[in-house]
Amino acid sequence: MNISKLFEKKDIVVSFEIFPPKPTSPISTVYDTLDALGDLNPHYISVTYGAGGTEKENSTVTIAKYIKNTLLIEPLAHLTCLGTTKEEIKSTLESLEQNGIKNILALRGDRSEFNNKPGDFKYASELISFIKSSGDFNVVAGCYPEKHPEAPSLEQDIINLKNKVDCGASHLITQLFFDNERFYDFMDKTAKAGINVPVDVGIMPLTNIKQAQKMTSLMGVNVPKKHLKMLEKFGDNPLAMREAGIVFAMEQIVDLIANGVKGIHIYTMNNPYVARRIMLYLHNIFSM
Ligand code: FAD
Repeated sequence: MNISKLFEKKDIVVSFEIFPPKPTSPISTVYDTLDALGDLNPHYISVTYGAGGTEKENSTVTIAKYIKNTLLIEPLAHLTCLGTTKEEIKSTLESLEQNGIKNILALRGDRSEFNNKPGDFKYASELISFIKSSGDFNVVAGCYPEKHPEAPSLEQDIINLKNKVDCGASHLITQLFFDNERFYDFMDKTAKAGINVPVDVGIMPLTNIKQAQKMTSLMGVNVPKKHLKMLEKFGDNPLAMREAGIVFAMEQIVDLIANGVKGIHIYTMNNPYVARRIMLYLHNIFSM
């Protein structure tokens, strides 16, 4: 199934992101989490990819296979290209193809000590073109409502995003954000730039303080004052923090859907409890 086409048929498309276990743990440790997430019946589940050689034994493909064959849910396999050769990508594509996995989130990957070796790709757009010329895949790409941290301006980042769509990305998933007004501004700008593919909004329920610190410092994501106040008030109480984070995420989602957003992509952080609570709200509010 082509997940980008879901937007033509559904009022709301809800999906989850999960990540493989740490390289020191066996892949099977994620299956309980996956079973619990699968029970919630999302429209698809995406699986992250360890960039530039940190991927353990093809774990993304193995987990995507489990999602497809055991949970009977469509997987979206992330794939990064920095520090990678065309041969290596080709081999991963073959493995995806053999397992009937046709949806790929094509990414550059963050720069790190693990991917600073020479490779054949500089930008995600080159990976997208390569995947499209390699087989019958549906390609999804990432986008950044508050600008990618390396881009000189949001305008330039949107020009580069348009290039990814022109290279074959048929749908986009946003970086997480908390300030919907910035997202609406981004959508106006992308529409003016001629980008008209479906956009899934990445939602990260803010359930602990460390997470918030990482977001502001590494990702350049604005954490609004009301969220900071929440962290101040509940930060020392993990249970209260988790519940407050869920309520904030729901408030954000309700506003997004009221403003015409059709795709909600939940960064589950492999936490089925949080995903279940959000799904329950969505079912109750939107009769999904
Ligand atoms: P690109 O689209 O290549 O953009 C990177 C930068 O280059 C941007 O600043 C862009 O403006 C600029 N640029 C693009 N084209 C050009 C050009 N022709 N000339 C000059 N500048 C250009 N990382 C992982 O390692 N594993 C994952 O599983 C993963 N999942 C992700 C899921 C989502 C939804 C998102 C949004 C990000 C994810 N990431 C993941 C992080 C991602 O790899 C990083 O954000 C990375 O730094 C950029 O990836 P990209 O595909 O957006 O890159």
